[in-house]
Parts: sequence; C-alpha cells; structure tokens
Amino acid sequence: MHMRFASLGSGSRGNGTLVESGDTRILIDCGFFLREAELRLRRFGVEPQTLSAILVTHEHFDHIGGVSRLARKYEIPVWMTNGTHAGWEDPHVPTLMRFNPHEAFRVGGIDVQPFPVPHDAREPSHFVFSAGGRRLGVISDAGSVTPFMRQSLSGCDALMLEFNYDPEMLRNGPYPAKLQKRVGGDYGHLSNGQAAELLTQIDRSRLQHLVLTHLSEKNNTPGLALAAAAQALEDAPPWLVCAHQARGLEWREIA
Ligand SMILES: [Zn+2]
Ligand SMILES: [Zn+2]
Repeated sequence: MHMRFASLGSGSRGNGTLVESGDTRILIDCGFFLREAELRLRRFGVEPQTLSAILVTHEHFDHIGGVSRLARKYEIPVWMTNGTHAGWEDPHVPTLMRFNPHEAFRVGGIDVQPFPVPHDAREPSHFVFSAGGRRLGVISDAGSVTPFMRQSLSGCDALMLEFNYDPEMLRNGPYPAKLQKRVGGDYGHLSNGQAAELLTQIDRSRLQHLVLTHLSEKNNTPGLALAAAAQALEDAPPWLVCAHQARGLEWREIA
C-alpha cells in the first residue's frame, strides 16, 4: 500500500502534516486550535475521528498548541518523547504513547523511524515514514545538520524539509537581535543555504517530491527558498513546491 501526504499549514503560526497509507492516517503535530484544526482536516477530506495517531515533534506552541483538545475530543492516541512530554503544558489526553527517538515503531500500516535533531526544545524528534517500500522524510525545526540527519533522510522517495530563513533577510528584518541569534543559531532553524546543502549531501536518486516547509513569513520568500532548492537539485522539477502557512499543501501521492 503506497503513501500520500499533505500539509494542513506550515510555519511559525501553526504546523500539521498528514501521512496516510491504506486506512492508517497519522497527523504529525497540531499547532492549530480545535475549530481551525477541524476545518483544515476536513478541507483535506479527513474526519478527525479517523486519525490513527498524532505524533508530536516537540513542545513548541506552533507544533503542540492544538494537540490536547483534538486528542481529547476525538480520542486520538498521542505519541511523543519523554522530553516533549516533560515540556508539555496540557498533558491530559486519553491515550499517551512514548517513543524513544532512536527506536522505530509502528502505527497501523506505517513504520515510523524517529531521529533526534538539534533544536531548542527538550527532546525534539522528526520522522521517516515507510510503507509499501516507499520512504517519506519529514523534518523542520533544526538549527544545524547532523550526520545522523543526513543518514536518516538519504534515499527517501519524498521529503518535507525546512527552508526557514534567508540569512540576509533575517539580518535586515524586523526580529530583535536576540531572536535573530536564536533563529540563526545551531539550535534554531535551517536557513535556505543549510537545507540546500543538506540536499546535496544525501542520496536523492529516488526523490519524486520535495516540499519546502516552515518558511518564515518575515525572513524568507517562497521565491528565495525555491531558488536555493533548485540550485541544489541543479533542476527545477514540477514536484519541487512550498507548503503555505494558510493553505498548506494538497495531497501528494508517492508513486
Ligand atoms: Zn516550529
Ligand atoms: Zn520549534
């Protein structure tokens, strides 16, 4: 059974990613309030009660802010690391599952391989999903690229990859110096250049979808991010796209 994926919205004002294979449907993060999350899920044809699990990458509000209420209302199991749980302000959900960021686990028909990332949260982790011999890598919120990230994301059929900021826009933009330092630091976010460099360092021979995510609305533009990715690919294929904060990204099938 093959996979498909969609973005409910991507950026510092809320994140949510859908991954589906057969009747297994996973939501990664929910940074939208209940009503907004329900609207966005239904826009993609998903009834919230059909979600198999919510996987949480880390406790920052744009990723976890809507998890509790959605999980409580629809009794959806929530998965997270111990560290994320320790940093969570509203940890009362019907079913709480923990995962170790170095150990694979399975949700229905989808294999999940988590991997830790350098980011200023307690125990942040992102994921590679596998089903039907296809691999989808999903990563955002990482301040730098580790060898383990390169290894994890190598050989994927589809990638959702953070292109957070353009360094020059960040330097000349509206963020105060302290926030600029955080975003641009080793535990902040990936710049267009860092993400593009990562692309040049991994096996891309199977890649059929590249989705640029978590673009800063203040310190980046889709044009700059797409240009950086195209330069790394030495090509601008039609399957290279950005996920939008408001609209997200329509379902993409992994063939
Ligand atoms: Zn974030
Ligand atoms: Zn974060």
